[in-house]
Amino acid sequence: MNLISMFDESASRWPTKTLLHYGDEAFSYAQIQALSRRAAQVLRDRGVGQGDRVALMCFNTPYFLIGVLGALRLGAVVVPVNHKLQKPEVEFILRHSAARLCIIDVALGALAQRIETEACLLGTGDMAGAADVGFDHFDTLVQRTEAGELPAPVGDEALAQVLYTSGTTGQPKGCLHSQRAVFTTALVCAAALSMTHNDRMLIAMPIWHAAPLNNWTFGTLLMGGTLVFLREYAPRGFLEAIARHRVTLTFGAPIALLAPLELADFDSHDLGSMRLWIYGGGPLGEDMAKRLMQRYRTTQFMQVYGMTEMGPLGTALFPEDALRKAGSIGRSSLPGVQVRVVAEDGGATPAGQVGEIQLRSEAAMRGYQDDPEATRAAYTPDGWYRSGDLARVDEDGYYYVVDRLKDLITTGGENVYSKEVEDALSPHPDLADVAVIGRPHPDWGETVVAVIVPWPGRQPDAEALKAFLADKLARYKIPREYVCVDTLPRTPSGKLQKHLLRKDIGAPAPSLPSTS
Ligand code: ATP
Repeated sequence: MNLISMFDESASRWPTKTLLHYGDEAFSYAQIQALSRRAAQVLRDRGVGQGDRVALMCFNTPYFLIGVLGALRLGAVVVPVNHKLQKPEVEFILRHSAARLCIIDVALGALAQRIETEACLLGTGDMAGAADVGFDHFDTLVQRTEAGELPAPVGDEALAQVLYTSGTTGQPKGCLHSQRAVFTTALVCAAALSMTHNDRMLIAMPIWHAAPLNNWTFGTLLMGGTLVFLREYAPRGFLEAIARHRVTLTFGAPIALLAPLELADFDSHDLGSMRLWIYGGGPLGEDMAKRLMQRYRTTQFMQVYGMTEMGPLGTALFPEDALRKAGSIGRSSLPGVQVRVVAEDGGATPAGQVGEIQLRSEAAMRGYQDDPEATRAAYTPDGWYRSGDLARVDEDGYYYVVDRLKDLITTGGENVYSKEVEDALSPHPDLADVAVIGRPHPDWGETVVAVIVPWPGRQPDAEALKAFLADKLARYKIPREYVCVDTLPRTPSGKLQKHLLRKDIGAPAPSLPSTS
């Protein structure tokens, strides 16, 4: 269950087959294998050995993959870094993960130059037009270096990755994943998708996230399939890549599948090669899920739910249920992953009631980097991971995420699920985006506040919005206050960062900040 042995096996089965399409470039399995051996030598020449941390802050590029495989060849530990982070955030991750070396895209030139770190820095990506970041170019070094003797592969239990969470609820946490855990994730995903070597998987979401990397990239490598890398997601580029490379599988955050629908020429793209559209990583309400199926003219959709801590496996809603159970994240249905929904008193949740989703999995993290207290707090005494997500279970055992525990609003002794209010308010024609939070209140505990982004030229008034909700929600759930902002703070994967909203807008004295 060693990742590099797994990759080498695929390369020996399919040496001449195209492993990766990237724009006009194509790389075979044998080419990537040879480049990854050279990459290992480049890293070794810079002092990287077994167990050392190698950070990669890259777009979805061939040299990201080559760097990851090169590091794994040495038994080093891969630390993918979000390329949208700012200087202090990157420095935090490099310091926190004790990165020995960091490969950073030269397109992030200004940032790369300013980063203060003890890690050895190497640049990657297209040098033409990029500012000189002042350190060696990984890609050139790989092309010029001869591969040397390589160490024997490390064992199953060796650490393979430190994956940082999105930071939706605060500071990102470093999840420690073993070789076995990542291998398991790839295997479970390949099985769940009935993946074969004939599949062509488009990686359109940032590859430093757990799902694009572990589920879909490693899953494809395991089966000898072909990857298509989109350097950076854009709605039109997404559709064009599918048509051009006859893609069969892809994964997107809900917003990534919804955004192309706004293109005037959406229907003119040939998407006929697709056999399954996968989405997840954030909530998508029933109406929007149905809209996707209607506009893409297929029910071949699979919703996945999971989190970085679990590798990120959790549940899946398979295509046969896509319409019937739209809005659900599916049941406990992935091999090796157990799921339960637990009431506040620790007991089982009766159908229709809300409880916390808890998981136990072969793909689970070993714990958080340097944080035994958070690791302990993340698990129940009997070893289940506490997701912090609240879900309702229906009579057939399907789960519906209703909120995150931290986003639950308590007003006058009643629980208000912010997601329910957002789902009710977001179809309003004047609103481009909506978030609902609680603001501390001396009498009621909290009041419900809607933070809204109106479409340009629209100015919805609070009374009209309340009237819109009047026949949809109980009175206590209807926001008392409506705060207009230009944009909502989101993570690069599109998740609302409500802790930032609570800090800015949820403070007891209301104000009208402009968030960015
Ligand atoms: P942090 O832990 O730093 O706050 P995060 O929890 O957003 O970040 P991730 O591991 O990227 O980090 O996200 C996992 C969370 O994303 C889940 O706990 C859940 O709240 C949400 N999520 C994932 N998939 C789905 C889905 N299909 N439907 C609803 N929510 C989802």
